[in-house]
Amino acid sequence: PCTDFDVAYFHSYAHVGIHEEMIKDRARTETYKEAIMQHQSFIQGKVVVDVGCGTGILSIFCAQAGAKRVYAVDASDIAVQANEVVKANGLSDKVIVLHGRVEDVEIDEEVDVIISEWMGYMLLYESMLGSVITARDRWLKPGGLILPSHATLYMAPVSHPDRYSHSIDFWRNVYGIDMSAMMQLAKQCAFEEPSVESISGENVLTWPEVVKHIDCQTVKIQELDSVIASYKFKSMMRAPMHGFGFWFDVEFSEPASSPAKTTSATSVASGSSSVSPSREGNHKKRSNPSDALTIVYLYDPVDVEQDQVIEGSVTLSQSKENRRFMNIHLEYSSAGRSFVKESVMR
Ligand code: SAH
Repeated sequence: PCTDFDVAYFHSYAHVGIHEEMIKDRARTETYKEAIMQHQSFIQGKVVVDVGCGTGILSIFCAQAGAKRVYAVDASDIAVQANEVVKANGLSDKVIVLHGRVEDVEIDEEVDVIISEWMGYMLLYESMLGSVITARDRWLKPGGLILPSHATLYMAPVSHPDRYSHSIDFWRNVYGIDMSAMMQLAKQCAFEEPSVESISGENVLTWPEVVKHIDCQTVKIQELDSVIASYKFKSMMRAPMHGFGFWFDVEFSEPASSPAKTTSATSVASGSSSVSPSREGNHKKRSNPSDALTIVYLYDPVDVEQDQVIEGSVTLSQSKENRRFMNIHLEYSSAGRSFVKESVMR
């Protein structure tokens, strides 16, 4: 069912800014364009559905790659502009814009290709993958192509002393006044929710682990209600650990049964997006995907030694309050200390 939260969610995509930002993210947009061109021989003469077409950009790339017909679906009012863009490019006979949810619109044929840009913060924030699965189960022919075909969420422990000193240690001495009484509140406000930042490789304490690998051909909606992963890191350095960084990449490959093209996977590393400061909106902001990641901070840094083991588990689940929100439950233990950190990504 379409909830009030969905209405607010789709409303946030009616603004130009979010589309401008996504399209100006060259790494994102060019990766999709290249992936479409790489699979041109598969797409030629075929029927495509673009799940969440926004301004219609990916639908138009598919039409340019020779698709016979593209169903460009979006529930947001941006679909009105998508239709105008399609018309102005003389593609109205090929690209059919459907203004509605993929869960609700009717398409009277099976499709060969599904394309979608569904990835959110920590990959799963926004819960849009469920709509791609719905489209797959409604319309995709057996052996059809899904772009992207795979997605992987990674995590690693990180050290970020600059952030900590900028937001927390700052209060130790303010114009000569000891304001450390502010530090508890500062930690709460700075670290309650995950934040999207760019940090350099030196801030990552060791090799990442996979939190979740998704094969878009086979993944089921129920699998995404709650994703649980245990982790065990061995720090490669001695450093204060401030939290865990999460990022993802996606792959564009043809199903195993079709000839070749499985090696031509393009990978777009991405931490994607950062949350808008307003609590109401679901606006996602994309920063340069190659250097942005989502960090779940601990309230206090933990000093780790080289080779120290850091272990625990992370659970990402859809919020009951609003299925577009994500609960993050982090369990952590190292050198005899253990914590639980709960947060909500709104
Ligand atoms: N494909 C575009 C826009 C991606 S943003 C581009 O690459 O630039 C995701 C879009 O998906 C938004 O416009 C949002 O309104 C739409 N969307 C999300 N869930 C949807 C659903 N269930 N049905 C239809 N559209 C949806």
